[in-house]
Amino acid sequence: MSVLVVGSTALDSIKTPKASHPRLLGGSASHAAVAASFFGPVRLVGVVGRDFPKRYLELYRRHGIDLAGLQIRDGQTFHWAGEYEVNMNRRRTLATELGVFETFSPELPAAYRPSPFVLLANIAPALQLHVLDQMRRPRFVAADTMDLWLNIAMKDLLRLLKRIDLLVLNDSEAHQLTQDDNVIHALARLHKLGPKYVIIKKGEHGSILGGPQGRFIAPAYPLSKVVDPTGAGDSFVGGLMGYLASARGSIDANLRRAMVYGSVTASFCCEGFGLKKTDTTTRADIEKRVKELAQLTKF
Ligand code: AMP
Repeated sequence: MSVLVVGSTALDSIKTPKASHPRLLGGSASHAAVAASFFGPVRLVGVVGRDFPKRYLELYRRHGIDLAGLQIRDGQTFHWAGEYEVNMNRRRTLATELGVFETFSPELPAAYRPSPFVLLANIAPALQLHVLDQMRRPRFVAADTMDLWLNIAMKDLLRLLKRIDLLVLNDSEAHQLTQDDNVIHALARLHKLGPKYVIIKKGEHGSILGGPQGRFIAPAYPLSKVVDPTGAGDSFVGGLMGYLASARGSIDANLRRAMVYGSVTASFCCEGFGLKKTDTTTRADIEKRVKELAQLTKF
């Protein structure tokens, strides 16, 4: 079954202590869509400017991503620049240039409206809501967010939470949203805001799910070298949704395994700048690491 992905489609300029790479393919929707594409068909909704390199459009196409919902507008593509410290868990934003993103309104092609699985990747909650308004009774809706929206768009975010099945956010955002530092309490408070399923991501320490079947902890795949963690969260939720859409059976039966697939897909993202490593990854590479994770967590 198809996954519809909406979010940012960006050019990312990334600096780490070892290297710097300007204008890589980035954005929450790019990372999530490529991650989901390992498992089945993906439809992308986003906007880019005329400066968007053709080779990036080819990369999407190589992964079989349907681009009917990608608008190409006069103007510059959304550009984000970030710099990592020696401790790669710490990053600061150097620039956010909205370009064509400033006036973006996600309009869905008619063929996209019945998509059963919807991933609202990181983007303003008002735009995430606008996408939901156009959908025809989706089976499962997941949303990601970021601290920026908690600071400037809380009202829209609270409206969104009432309309989604799964919220995915990182631990600092969960604590900011709930004012509670305890992860168990934070999960309970987040469920009360609407979503039946909540996943709190903890970077290299994995993630924790709260849902009707109780809690579940998914490890991160341990890497000896992290090159660039940009987009790891988006790859996690993209891989998770791709797997869920491809699996037979109920959401409850598949969600835990989907988190493990999400962890593994995200691990490849961290091993190259931007989407470089993910682009050359195969489904067989993913399956191999899933097996390794099963061994690593068996006792
Ligand atoms: P993550 O590493 O999971 O936080 O995601 C990083 C991606 O988010 C980058 O590829 C950026 O292009 C994208 N991004 C950064 N700021 C924003 C924003 N304000 N809205 C949407 N996407 C953003």
